[in-house]
Amino acid sequence: SSTATRRSLVNSTRSDRPPDKERLINLDHGDPRMYERYWRKRGEKTSITIAGWESMSYFSQGENICWFMEPELAEEVVRLHNLVGNAVTQGRHIVVGTGSSQLFLAALYALSPTHHSHQPITVVSALPYYSSYPSMTDYQKSGLYKWGGDAETYDDEKDGAYIELVTSPNNPDGYTRESVVKNKRQGLFIHDLAYYWPQYTPISYPSDHDLTLFTLSKATGHSGTRIGWALVKDSVVAKKMTKFIELNTIGVSKDSQLRAAKILETVSDSCEEEESFFKYSYEIMAHRWRKLRAAVEGNALFTLPNFSPAFCNFFNNYTQPQPAFLWLKCERLIEDCASFLRQHKILSRSGERFGVSPKYVRISMLDTDENFMEFIERLSSIHL
Ligand code: PMP
Repeated sequence: SSTATRRSLVNSTRSDRPPDKERLINLDHGDPRMYERYWRKRGEKTSITIAGWESMSYFSQGENICWFMEPELAEEVVRLHNLVGNAVTQGRHIVVGTGSSQLFLAALYALSPTHHSHQPITVVSALPYYSSYPSMTDYQKSGLYKWGGDAETYDDEKDGAYIELVTSPNNPDGYTRESVVKNKRQGLFIHDLAYYWPQYTPISYPSDHDLTLFTLSKATGHSGTRIGWALVKDSVVAKKMTKFIELNTIGVSKDSQLRAAKILETVSDSCEEEESFFKYSYEIMAHRWRKLRAAVEGNALFTLPNFSPAFCNFFNNYTQPQPAFLWLKCERLIEDCASFLRQHKILSRSGERFGVSPKYVRISMLDTDENFMEFIERLSSIHL
């Protein structure tokens, strides 16, 4: 069919092309292409079929406050968190969203004060912060909340109530984080734990916050399925988040939820077998970070972040943080690292987008093997 032809054309221009020196390697986005090989190998076992008459309703069965959440997905979310040990699920309401991006907006809506006389509540996050937070917070010029920038310099004694976004491990730099506003009395918190999975960081304890976001995108690589979930302590907050999604999209695609449930089930099954999905992806990340460190070793032009190993309860061993992004600093006279790398046909995201100096860039570590290896080759060849 023409769709199949178009697909094969798209795919062949994406990954089957031989690498050539003129090709631009786009590592600006965090598109998790790295995982495709694993899922290809798993083959038909991870497929689902949905007949024309199935999952037609707006509604789902089940007891959840989130009335459009498929019970299979809720079950698999709980099962996986319990196996991995990265989040407390007991006493939590689960809210499903079209990616954690929709849940981020739902959370801002739910946490904002509703009284008419109220000024918009300030939303802050420590530098360097995920580049989408400022624009996602402000693009609708909401009267409920407004972007306030760096959490370190926020003074709630003076400036009042706030929402702090805590991303751990952090996008872009990969470090583990806790909230930073000095006086936490007036704070409401959104913990974005998109990368709190064993392939990226040691799982030291089950997270136990009021409102935590996770996403299928970074856990298993299925960013196109657009499924994320929130673990929420307070039922009033869970209801308001559900209301937001009702107003926004009247629910979340059932087809995507069922596919996500199948993917999570496969991952959990693999953890109970010989080689878990996480072991497989951990090994790839470890290999990539070794290659990367070898490529810039002794090169005074570049500085990489340094991480300490910690005990990972999932692997029952000490593991290294190996973030989904490289947070690279250009030294010497290079003031604009992104432009410098662009001359070498490497597309990265400038530190300015994360609220800091353009001497920094963020580079995706999750692209295809082919693009990653080409990136490493180019990086090793850059000298002053
Ligand atoms: N939070 C963080 C920290 C992210 O890096 C991303 C993806 N880049 C998201 C949220 C959004 O993920 P999604 O909407 O695909 O679930």
